[in-house]
Amino acid sequence: MSSVVGFVGLGHMGGPMAANLVKAGHRVIGYDVVPGMRAAAAEAGVETVGSAAETAAGADVVITMLPVGRHVLALYGGEGLLAAARPGTLFVDCSTIDVADARTAHEAVLAAGHRPLDAPVSGGVVGAEAGTLTFMAGGEAADFARAEPLLLAMGKKAVHCGAAGAGQAAKVCNNMILGISMIAVSEAFVLGESLGLSHQALFDVASTASGQCWALTVNCPVPGPVPGSPAARDYAPGFAAPLMAKDLGLAANAARAGGVDAELGRRAARMYAEFAEGEGADLDFSGIVRAVRRRSTPSEASEASEASEGHTSQNGTPA
Ligand code: NAD
Repeated sequence: MSSVVGFVGLGHMGGPMAANLVKAGHRVIGYDVVPGMRAAAAEAGVETVGSAAETAAGADVVITMLPVGRHVLALYGGEGLLAAARPGTLFVDCSTIDVADARTAHEAVLAAGHRPLDAPVSGGVVGAEAGTLTFMAGGEAADFARAEPLLLAMGKKAVHCGAAGAGQAAKVCNNMILGISMIAVSEAFVLGESLGLSHQALFDVASTASGQCWALTVNCPVPGPVPGSPAARDYAPGFAAPLMAKDLGLAANAARAGGVDAELGRRAARMYAEFAEGEGADLDFSGIVRAVRRRSTPSEASEASEASEGHTSQNGTPA
């Protein structure tokens, strides 16, 4: 059944997600504060309007895909989306935001007489364009069921994780595992370099042994063992380091709020924040291996490895 969907935030993720809803036969009324984003969405068949509130006026469902929680809460409040919508409208926030902000958003939506769902995604821009995102949702089962056909028009999988905020909780827990495991894999490769172990030998062992994980077998942080990993293209993202820094910050906030002693999560958040503010600003998060290598005492083995990495880079610049 086709729906009228309000869509706010037509950026890297929201733009292609809205386009996929149009392709699936839904009427999408979209808004982004940046005129260029509205223009690109209009080319994909989104009906663009001049304010966020106008997207909600005739919508069955309002989807937001915004940078952080304060954007979502600001757009929900005042004369914004919640006030403009018809009673009972379903509000699906797909942004990655603080668990606490997501719960505040749920309360605001309910207080205004509407239905809330948090539904952050994994899969990145490539997944948004291909319609292969994974959604992890928090809210009532009936609201998840109502959103599911739309989520599956933008993705390949939608998991109902529990009550308000559970989608964001699943997202930050997963990405905390990912951030820590990428640092672990990077440290292991740099340690292997100093011990004279080749990248391929370590990969061949660890990828089929107990060190096996996604950070190693899919997004391998050194070039060579996994031809399609970002390391093979000078760390062009992929999943950009600033987004990993953001997600680890959200995980650290949630851990602090819950009194959880997630020491490695905190350390990973600090390492990624530093990396993303410096050389990692435009790199895939697996580029953290360079920061690990740089912080290590130089040895003949690691210098040789840096040199060979530079030699294999695709654009000819030293890695
Ligand atoms: P983006 O910056 O490309 O898009 C956000 C859009 O929101 C921008 O176009 C911006 O102009 C718009 N916006 C900001 N304030 C607004 C307002 N007040 N009214 C209307 N529009 C407004 O970011 P993105 O990469 O699309 O990410 C969106 C969300 O998805 C973030 O929460 C991010 O953490 C999450 N996410 C991103 C990725 C990724 O790979 N890019 C992956 C998973 C999750």
